Amino acid sequence: MSGSTSVSGSGHGKDDGEEAPSPARSSDADVGTRAPDHPSPETAAGLKILIVENVPSDAELIEQTLRRAGLGFVARRVGAQEAFIRALDEFDPDIVLSDCKLPDFDGFAAIRQARRKSPDLPVILVTGMLGDEAAVELVKAGANDYVLKEGMSRLPTAVHRALTEAQTARAQKQAEEALRRSEERYRSLVVALSQIVWTTDAKGEVIDDVPAWTAFTGQSRDEIKGAGWIAALHPDDRDRVAAAWSAAVAARTLFETEYRLRRHDGEYRHFSVRGVPVGAEDGTIREWVGVCTDITERKRHEEELAEVQARMVEVLRAQAVRDPLTGLFNRQYLDETLTRELHGSRRRKMPLSLAMLDIDHFKIFNDTYGHAAGDEVLKQLGKALRDTVRTSDIACRYGGEEFVLILLDADLAAALPSVARICLEIKRIQCVFRGRTLPGITVSAGVAQYPVHGTSPEELLRAADEALYAAKNAGRDRIEISSARPRRKMAPVPS
Ligand code: GH3
Ligand code: MG
Ligand code: MG
Repeated sequence: MSGSTSVSGSGHGKDDGEEAPSPARSSDADVGTRAPDHPSPETAAGLKILIVENVPSDAELIEQTLRRAGLGFVARRVGAQEAFIRALDEFDPDIVLSDCKLPDFDGFAAIRQARRKSPDLPVILVTGMLGDEAAVELVKAGANDYVLKEGMSRLPTAVHRALTEAQTARAQKQAEEALRRSEERYRSLVVALSQIVWTTDAKGEVIDDVPAWTAFTGQSRDEIKGAGWIAALHPDDRDRVAAAWSAAVAARTLFETEYRLRRHDGEYRHFSVRGVPVGAEDGTIREWVGVCTDITERKRHEEELAEVQARMVEVLRAQAVRDPLTGLFNRQYLDETLTRELHGSRRRKMPLSLAMLDIDHFKIFNDTYGHAAGDEVLKQLGKALRDTVRTSDIACRYGGEEFVLILLDADLAAALPSVARICLEIKRIQCVFRGRTLPGITVSAGVAQYPVHGTSPEELLRAADEALYAAKNAGRDRIEISSARPRRKMAPVPS
């Protein structure tokens, strides 16, 4: 019965080529005695056996023997080398059962060709009488097994074992491949995470490969050995890091540092590094384990943050001394600066003039055009002052609509034209507010000079204020010079 399931070999001569595969029928499994209680390679769907045998009756015997043992399979028979090679590709067998002596090739060639097709493809030689030596040679050549035609009953066991071995080898290969892939993934993950894990021996010498280091720096495995890794550091960091590393190894304490590491493309990246000694059971240090973390981005963010903070401090500092409406220095700044500048003038024996300006009839202006319009005027006045004064002069908003100018190194002769020019500029301000052109304003000013009218900030400010009051009284829109006399007699200031 089993014979009827296989492709008949009858009618084919010794040099016959190949035959169509014979589909294994489930009924074949009835024949034979093996009923495996665990999944075995032979029960896998579509087991394909390539039989290399030029004698049809022998081929038939092989098939029958296997089917009687309960093996389900499809078989293809070939009897010549060319057909064999073609069948390896087209039929893609799971196992090769080959005669040893064939018209145009032998068992060794069969093994070689099968191995070339697939290194794990099992080959069992089914041969006539074979000397011990020849048998050993065949197994050496890579045959999984050999079965004598006279002892064919051993064939099913041999086939079963060869298939199991092949399956095990495949599984092992798959496991190794999976491991390799997972290691590869881990490695690329390490690179992606920009972390490098390393180990050294107890003396701090690199012994093992550090694949992530090699991948990052491009240093070869040998180059990093011992203390070779230090060569990949930025030249300015090498001595410091080498010393810190030696110290940590000697003291057996945590190694913690930062350095710049040269990437394979030449770019330096900042790394934070930590290493710890790992103790053996007897209390000695067994090795060091460490991790380097790329902190370049963090560093960049920190630097950017520091820059932003510095700019903010600058802005805040500027705001602290500026009046927001006019952009002029505020009164606090004036008080500090006047004291400082008077000291400077005294030291340099140079004059200093101070002008106090007040907008004329500003209350009426506000009452007529509104406070917001008044604000706009103050704003424009601030701009005019900032634009007109010398860079060495200091313009401040002293109060609501009162302003103070400090004219450094200027006596009255130098100061008065400047103040007059400023008053003129203020008069020229043309303010358009909410589509309406506002009338111009005038200011009155009082000027006092150090040390003629005062030597302290208070004296000078009071003298200028009194002069301003005089200007108001005299009809406004004018400049008056202080008539104050300093309490102490000062050395005459050269003019
Ligand atoms: P004088 O010529 O005598 O200086 O007359 P004046 O109206 O300017 O003087 P007074 O001191 O009586 O009034 C000052 C006015 O300045 C009152 C107030 O409405 C106005 N002022 C003070 N600070 C501000 C401000 O920040 N914005 C506006 N819009 N007005 C202000
Ligand atoms: Mg006023
Ligand atoms: Mg006023």
